[in-house]
Order: sequence, then C-alpha cells, then structure tokens
Amino acid sequence: MGKGKRFSFGLALIIILLVLGALAWFLVVIFEGEKPLAILEPSPYYISGPKEFHVKVADKKSGLKSLSIRVVQEGRKVIVLDRKFPYKGLLNKEGEHEFEKSFVLDPSVFDLGQGGIELILEARDYSRRNGGDGNLSVIQRKMVVDTIPPSIRPVSRMNYITVGGAGLIVYEASSDTVQSGVYVDDMFFPGFQAGEGYPATAHVCYFSVPYYVKKRPQLYLWGKDKAGNESKAGFYYRIRRRNFRRQTINITDRFLRKVLPYFSFYQFPPNLSDVEKFLIINRKLRKENAQAFYELRKKTSSEQLWEGPWLRLKNSATMARFGDHRTYYYKGKKIDEQTHLGVDLASLAHSKVQAANSGKVIFADRIGIYGLTIVLDHGQGLTSIYSHLSQILVNDGQTVSKGQVIGVTGQTGLAGGDHLHFGVMVNGVFVNPVEWWDGHWIRDNVVRKLKMLRSASTGAG
Ligand SMILES: [Zn+2]
Repeated sequence: MGKGKRFSFGLALIIILLVLGALAWFLVVIFEGEKPLAILEPSPYYISGPKEFHVKVADKKSGLKSLSIRVVQEGRKVIVLDRKFPYKGLLNKEGEHEFEKSFVLDPSVFDLGQGGIELILEARDYSRRNGGDGNLSVIQRKMVVDTIPPSIRPVSRMNYITVGGAGLIVYEASSDTVQSGVYVDDMFFPGFQAGEGYPATAHVCYFSVPYYVKKRPQLYLWGKDKAGNESKAGFYYRIRRRNFRRQTINITDRFLRKVLPYFSFYQFPPNLSDVEKFLIINRKLRKENAQAFYELRKKTSSEQLWEGPWLRLKNSATMARFGDHRTYYYKGKKIDEQTHLGVDLASLAHSKVQAANSGKVIFADRIGIYGLTIVLDHGQGLTSIYSHLSQILVNDGQTVSKGQVIGVTGQTGLAGGDHLHFGVMVNGVFVNPVEWWDGHWIRDNVVRKLKMLRSASTGAG
C-alpha cells in the first residue's frame, strides 16, 4: 500500500509539473513580444499628384489584429486605410498572418493642401502584451505635397531661327524651377540662369533647329520643379528654310596614299583596299568623333564666358561651308555621302589660330578625322572647335581670352591640305558658324534679348 501511495504522489507531481509547464508555455505564447513586420513602399519626399503605395504587414506568432494608415496635415487627420482582422481558431491559428494592399494617395481626393504632411502606419498583433493591446509597429514618413507646376513665361517676343543655325530664347521661370529649356521636337536644349546682374528668375536658352530637320519642328519652353511638376509654354518663332550646297569630291589614289598613313593607329580588319579603309574612316570614325563632340556638352559652364562677335581666321578664304552635302566619287563611281559640319578656312600654311571668343579649353587632343583639335567652351552650351591643327598651344582646362593664339593650322586628320576646320556647337549640335561672326546677328539675336530680359524681369510666380 505504501508503495502505491508513493507511486500516485510521484504521478501527481509529474502532472502538476506538466500543467505548470503547459501554463508557462501558454503564457509565453499569448504574451509574445514580437512586433508585426511592416513595409511601406515607395518613400517619396514629394507628392505632386496621385501616388500609389504598397503596404505589406505580417505577424507569424499571434497574427494580425489591425492595420491603420492615416495622413496628418496641420493637426487634421485623414484615414487612408483601416482594417480589423478577426480572431479565428485556437490561439488565432486561422487568423490573418499576412496582409498586402496597394492604395493611392491622391492629394485632391483627401483634400490635402500644399505643404508638409505625415503618413503614419500602425499595425498591431493579437499578443496579450501592453494591457491586451498587442505589439505595435509604427512607420512615420514626412512628405511634401506640391501639385503646382512652375511658371514659365517667354520674354522675347519674336524669335527667328534659320535651319542649321542657332537661336536664343530669354524667359522667366519661377524660383521653384529646377530644370528648364527648349524642346525642338523631342530634342532638349537646357536653359541656364542668366547670371550676374539679372534676377534669379531670368533664364537664357541657346538652341538650334538642326540642319537635318526636314519637317516643320514643334518648339516650346519646358520646365520642371523639385516635386516633378512640369510646365510647357509656347513662344513665337519663325523658321527660315535654307538650301545647303551640294559638293562633289573625287577621291584619288594619290589622296589616299597621302592621308591613310595618318590613320595607322586605327585597327582595320585585315586585307582591306585603300578605298575600303577610307570608307571606314569617313563613316565609322566620323560617327564616333561626332559622339565624342556631343559628350562635351556636359562640360559647359552655366555662365556666359564670351562677348561680342566671334573672330574668324585672319586673311582666310572659305574653302567649304557649313552644311555642304558632299558626294564622294572614286574612279567615277559614287562611294559615299556626308555633311560638312563646319567652315573650312585656308590662309598661309602654319597660320596662327586665335580663340574666336573668350572661354575655357575643354578638349585639346587628337581626335580621329579631325586630327589635332581644340574645343573651347563659351558657357551655356556654346562651344567652338578648331581642327586639323599642326600644333596645340593650350592645355585642357585653361582659360583663354578672345584673340589669344591657341594653335597653328595644319593638315592633321582627314585633310587634303593646310586649313582650319572651324565649328560651333550648341549643346552638342553643330550649327552654322557664320552667324557668330556677324555683329548684326549677335546684336539682334543675343544682345537685344538680354537687354529685354534685364528690364522685363519682375520675378515670375
Ligand atoms: Zn572641314
């Protein structure tokens, strides 16, 4: 009997320990301290219109109890999303453990004003912690509602542009504008703040109707603010058509023998004839060089570095014009067509080359068909190019003044004789240099407009 008593006592003890263990486990489970996982994406700083967000909440242990998302602006609360999840099954095993949803925050739907807002997300689980409220996850995001586009207003009344040439538009853009300029169809020309002596709202933009544009292009001003709001504004312009010359160039064996040794650096495929090598130079290398020149637009200064008419090579004759459409023949057969994108000027061999205007050297090196070349930046997207030089007398990064001798003419690259190939670019697009040598053109198209901008500026928007 004593034996039996001891046995039942031991059993009772085991049962008590098991019950206590189960109770401890139960308490640990129902009072678990793991917060729900909460993800809210994306996290923009500016809200410029209806914006879609995606929310994901999860709670492995007790399961989700509630999710609420609200917007607070100057003390006013707006509920964006409010969900309660029911308790289901033993220890909420059948309850909601994961929840995902997309929602749109539309400032006009929620009647939000311009300015700061706070987006607050709260997710709770079914843990008995915190007096039964559960574990809480909070996400707080500060944002700014800005749905008002920048204001852009042209100042120059009439703008004349010749195909292949340049134009300047002066305009005012409100102070919230971070980027603005002119679109010529889908080609963008960036504008710049006019600089010292002008209000901060005064802007200038040099642009071009490129020589290859065939149809009537659409031109308009465009601007964007920090929040991404965009504005467009039309302006008056007249585009003058222009006929470019046609030129025939006969490629002789003598010319090829003279020019090809210069291109010995080039990795030609094996077993090519001289004329085949010439065609690779005239097409592929020319294209690569054009791309390298286009990249230089990124180095431009935001300030105007030049003043007055640009200088033309002294005592020189024009050998080829801008936009000449060249057809190349070899032994009477047409082999290629290209457009000449500068002006060829010939003087005495080894003539001194002056900087056409004040600026900064942004390129001074050998470049493919152009040979030894200098590119000067004149600011706000304007550059001048000097090619086929025999000597470069300046260094990359150097500041130069108008008339300063920067190099010596020669026949490096794809040149049949000593001459200067002079080019002008507007934001990487080659334009007719003739306009920049013309004091009347500068006065009518640049100086007059800048004067208008100085007096018209009262501060837009
Ligand atoms: Zn040329």
